[in-house]
Amino acid sequence: MKRIVLVGGGHSHLHCVKKLKANKQPDIEWVLVSSSRYQYYSGMFSGFVEGLYEESDIRIDLLQLSKWVGIQFIELTISSIDPINNTLYSASGQTISFDYVSFDIGSLNIDPNIPNLANNSIAVKPNHLFPKHINDLRCSKHPVIVGGGASGIEMALSLLAWKKKHTPNDSEVTLVHSSPLLHSTGIRSSKIITQLAHKSGLNVVSKETVATVTKENLITQKGIRINYSHLIYLGGPQASPLFRNSSLPTDSHGFMLIKSTLQNIRYPHIFGAGDCISIESDLNIPKNGVTAVRQGPVLWKNLNRIVQKKDLLEYQPQKNYLALISIGNHHALLIYGTFATSGKWTWHAKNWIDRRFMNQFQT
Ligand SMILES: Cc1cc2nc3c(=O)[nH]c(=O)nc-3n(C[C@H](O)[C@H](O)[C@H](O)COP(=O)(O)OP(=O)(O)OC[C@H]3O[C@@H](n4cnc5c(N)ncnc54)[C@H](O)[C@@H]3O)c2cc1C
Repeated sequence: MKRIVLVGGGHSHLHCVKKLKANKQPDIEWVLVSSSRYQYYSGMFSGFVEGLYEESDIRIDLLQLSKWVGIQFIELTISSIDPINNTLYSASGQTISFDYVSFDIGSLNIDPNIPNLANNSIAVKPNHLFPKHINDLRCSKHPVIVGGGASGIEMALSLLAWKKKHTPNDSEVTLVHSSPLLHSTGIRSSKIITQLAHKSGLNVVSKETVATVTKENLITQKGIRINYSHLIYLGGPQASPLFRNSSLPTDSHGFMLIKSTLQNIRYPHIFGAGDCISIESDLNIPKNGVTAVRQGPVLWKNLNRIVQKKDLLEYQPQKNYLALISIGNHHALLIYGTFATSGKWTWHAKNWIDRRFMNQFQT
């Protein structure tokens, strides 16, 4: 009997757990370990902030899901791994042994290199930390969101949409960013989102990089002070300290380095997927939910194949993928390659895709 431990209830592991319902091998024991019983789906955070979804719409009950497929669920945060003695450790000293382990623990949103950011901003990641801040955020006088990527823009525009609807006389929201908005998705989408952001009444502060944070202000590298009542930093995914603390091979940012078979480059019995890993042969694969979902089927097959001593499959990243960014009031921006368009139907497409994804796991 071999024991496979899945650490983190992220997208790729959700796929593995779902597959177990009909495909459990008698010689493999599966265990799911995650920090929270609930796995929140960040693709629906924007709709949640805007008040279009309830908390129960945007989360998966990992305990129920595990019971449904017949595996053990342990609510625990893993803080380190001993790759030689095949043991996982929690900060409180709890241990879990394994034959094979896979990490799909996502990323963090707070950049540890920005002084005082951790004490003064809202943790959006891990995802289960975010919903408890929703009321404070909506009632906040001068909320500031940092980050010109998809998550920062969605968060700012959905909060603005909620405020305009519920507190129209008090609807200030500021977005601070350094590079052009959505610069990684091309000129057309960047232009469209910049126009939409200005039209919406969002207070956009461009070409500013956060240098440090005080209790009430963020201070940019050019010395500009921006007052905030609540601050959310979405300047790009940050690595969990787990891998560096365990002396596992990582990239320069601390994400676990793996091969295209999703195996750790040094320890073939350690796997990983989603935001928490970087693939050695292509360090630029974007860290987003789409990538994590796509890695799920390869991870599932390879975890089974390694026990059966079969050759492993390689994950092939997609060149183009569909991105749907909610811009408030049941509208979304659709981006595919260099094509971009916005409208109401695109939001309905996003809503349909997101709900269909969640329906698979809300048992
Ligand atoms: C506001 C916002 C909106 C976004 N919107 C989109 C979007 O619309 N589309 C898109 O593709 N991407 C979106 N993203 C990016 C997306 O959230 C991530 O890329 C995606 O969640 C990564 O999935 P994952 O499977 O790696 O991990 P996650 O979905 O983050 O799941 C990780 C899980 O591991 C658990 N965990 C963490 N640490 C530990 C530990 N040490 N021990 C045990 N368990 C642990 C967590 O509790 C969580 O359950 C958004 C991000 C943000 C912040």
